[in-house]
Parts: sequence; C-alpha cells; structure tokens
Amino acid sequence: MRTDVLVVGAGPAGSTAAYELARRGHSVVVAEEHRRIGHPVQCAGLVSRRVLELAGTEKMVLTPVHGATVLSPRLRAIEFRAPEPRAFVIDRAGLDVHLADRAARAGAEYRTGLRFDEFGDASDGLKVARLARADGGREEIHARVVIGADGVASAVARAARLRRPIEVLPAYEVEVPSSPADPDQVEVYLGNGLAPGLFGWSIPDGSGGARIGLAARADGTSARSYFERFARLLERRYGRPLPPAVGLVVSGIPIGTLPRITADGVALVGDAAAQVKPLSGGGIFTGMRAGALAAETVDVALRAHDTSERRLRAYATAYEAELGEEFRRAHYLRRLFARLTDDDFERLIAALEESGMGEAIVAFGDIDFPSHVARRLLRQSPSLLRLFPKALGAWLSSGAELVPDLELDRRRRPAT
Ligand SMILES: Cc1cc2nc3c(=O)[nH]c(=O)nc-3n(C[C@H](O)[C@H](O)[C@H](O)COP(=O)(O)OP(=O)(O)OC[C@H]3O[C@@H](n4cnc5c(N)ncnc54)[C@H](O)[C@@H]3O)c2cc1C
Repeated sequence: MRTDVLVVGAGPAGSTAAYELARRGHSVVVAEEHRRIGHPVQCAGLVSRRVLELAGTEKMVLTPVHGATVLSPRLRAIEFRAPEPRAFVIDRAGLDVHLADRAARAGAEYRTGLRFDEFGDASDGLKVARLARADGGREEIHARVVIGADGVASAVARAARLRRPIEVLPAYEVEVPSSPADPDQVEVYLGNGLAPGLFGWSIPDGSGGARIGLAARADGTSARSYFERFARLLERRYGRPLPPAVGLVVSGIPIGTLPRITADGVALVGDAAAQVKPLSGGGIFTGMRAGALAAETVDVALRAHDTSERRLRAYATAYEAELGEEFRRAHYLRRLFARLTDDDFERLIAALEESGMGEAIVAFGDIDFPSHVARRLLRQSPSLLRLFPKALGAWLSSGAELVPDLELDRRRRPAT
C-alpha cells in the first residue's frame, strides 16, 4: 500500500496532523494499534479553552472548572477561584473519536488494530513501514512521510533513531464514582513524600465523581505505592476512605527535550516528541499544536518533492518559535520545584497566602503557559523568592528571557 503520509497513532496529535494534511489534499493513512480509538483512556482530561477551539467543538466537555485548591503536605490549602471557567474537564475518549472523525471526513483513512513495528529498507525514496495486524498478519505501507504520533513509548522514534533522553514519570490514576471534593475546583497536592517530581490531583468528572491520581519521579517506589499513600492522605482530609474505583489509568508522562524531532521522511509529534508541559504533565494542547505545525511543514515538503530532514526541520523551528520559550522557563522552574522539601512546600503555601496575590494568580493563571504567572509571582513576592536559589533572583530581576544555569546552585541540594 502507498500513501503520501502515514500517521502512526490516533491520539490528539496524530489525528490533528492527519486532518490538516488530508484537508490539504494529501493521501493519509492513520495506523492505530488499538481496535477502539480513544481506548484505553490514559488521561485526566483537563484542558484549556484553546483545546476546544483547536478541536472546533465543545461537545466533549463534561464540566467547566473555575479554579484550583493547592494543598501542602500537611494539608494547608490555598484556593484560587475565578468568576469564569478557567479549564474544562472533557470526555477524553470523546475528544479522540471526534478528532479522528474530523480527519476521516477530510479524507484520511483510519486503520485500527494495526501496530507500527519498524522501518524496512527504503524503496523509491519512500519510507517503508512494517506493521503488525491484530489478527496476526503483517503488512507494509510505503509513505513519503511518516509522522510518529505514537505516544510516550514511540516505536517510530526508536526506529528512526531519534534519541529520547527524557524522563518518564510513572502515573497512576483512578476514577471514583463519588467524591466529597468541590465539583467546581481542581485539587493539586504538593509533597516530596507524596509525589516527588510532580503532584497529586483530584479532578471533578462532572457527575459527582472524580479522577484522582498522581505522577512521580521513577525513584524505585512504584506509582501505585505512592498512590496508596495519597489515598490515605485523602482519607484524612475527607474523613472517609475513597470509594472503590470504577476506572484505572497506569501510564507515563514524558518530560524533557529531544535533540531532534525530525529525520529524513519522519517527524515526531506529541508525547512521542515529549511535547508535554513540564510543570503540569499536560500534553493535549501542545500535542495538537505540534500536529498542526508538523502538517504545515509536511504539506510544503510534499509539494516541493523534498522530504529530507533539512526540509522537515522547519517544523521543529516553528514549534520552537511558538512554545520553546515557555518550555525552557517551565523546565527550569520544574527543576527548582523538584528540589523543594516538604517543609519548603509548607513555606511556599504560607508565602502564597501571605503574598495576597491570589487575584493576580486568578487573573494571569493559564494552564498552557504556567511559567508566566510563576515568574510574575516570584518577582513580586520576596517571601516566595527566599525559597529559591540566588540564580533565580538574578534571572527575575534582570528581565532576561533566557533561564540561568542551574549548575550555579548545586550547593542547595543535589540536582535531580
Ligand atoms: C494519568 C495521566 C493524566 C493526564 N492528564 C492530562 C490532562 O488532564 N490534560 C492534558 O492535557 N494531558 C494529560 N495527560 C497527558 C496526555 O494524555 C498526553 O500528553 C496526550 O495524550 C498526548 O497525545 P498524543 O496524541 O501525543 O499521544 P497519545 O494520546 O498517547 O496517543 C498515541 C496513540 O498511538 C497509539 N500507538 C502507540 N504505539 C503505536 C504503534 N506502535 N503503532 C500504532 N499505534 C500506536 C496509541 O494506542 C495511542 O492511541 C495525562 C497523562 C497521564 C498519563
């Protein structure tokens, strides 16, 4: 079988790329290893309005949320609430199905139960993808370009020898049918003993239940063990145990930067390219933007009959121009946060309370660009700044856009 573009993976990044290329008139095949698009769900489904705009519909929204409660390890809480919705909880499988449907209507051919395994020898300048069918059969697809949108464990990245020196944070999440938490608020639980490297969360599902989970550094303790501790903390907070789970997600969140996301005839998008927000682990918005940007470059490359790495690199440049600065700042801030002890987190929440900057956080908080509000807060609150190393203070007061070298601050605690 021959096609202009083979997209591997029918998640938000892959189906956005497929749609953008099919509507520009290219032949597109999407290979998805699972038989049902959107399943199994591996996500909490909290997104910004931008995702709804990119998807062109709000039909998968389960409930809006108006703010967040952030809790310290000793359950000291600070609440941020906005008059208007600041994020949306969605039916994540519904989003994937909608995006696939939109791409299929634009002309993309979806093949489910078809797993990409490796590249064969190139023929006629085309990439030869070897795939395995769910019925045990094997087939080859010859494509001018292969887009690897195959998630955190990307087989396309491996086959194209695109190095992925990234950290994968194991994640564990359950769905419970009833929750005593505010149905209008997201809860974020900080703590080194709780979820080192990221945080725990409780996200309302719009029907009285919640998606409760965490992601933490792979440090020898399993995400499930961390979750069991988290469940005990919630039991203390709510005064009763969590109800039995009706759904479970066990997956990983890729954090890091790939040296290259393109090769001859290959582009990576979404989790496959670790395009995940470092401060939150969210990757739907960034993956969809990457899918659209990759499609723009691939469209031009196909028309120019030049699908070399040199030509496809324009996608990486466009992605960097749009999101590179945010990612650099967020990676830097995340490394700082990863050094905080539980006592530091207590001081952080207390300093946030005392800073009186709740309104600024509500006004400027943006789940897609969290470094903006973090930087503003740190700049304006000396008590917050005292928690962090000197290099950060110098960076904030200089107004420089580039982040300082963290090596300067090894004294405080071993780098993570
Ligand atoms: C517990 C958890 C909670 C999360 N919560 C949020 C959240 O609230 N908000 C948010 O924005 N992000 C969240 N994320 C991150 C988000 O889920 C991902 O960033 C997003 O799904 C990435 O989209 P993608 O299209 O790149 O990859 P995916 O959605 O992972 O899609 C990849 C697709 O490729 C398929 N595939 C894999 N390998 C192959 C192969 N070899 N051949 C064919 N098909 C293949 C898979 O079956 C899958 O359908 C969460 C992640 C986790 C683990």
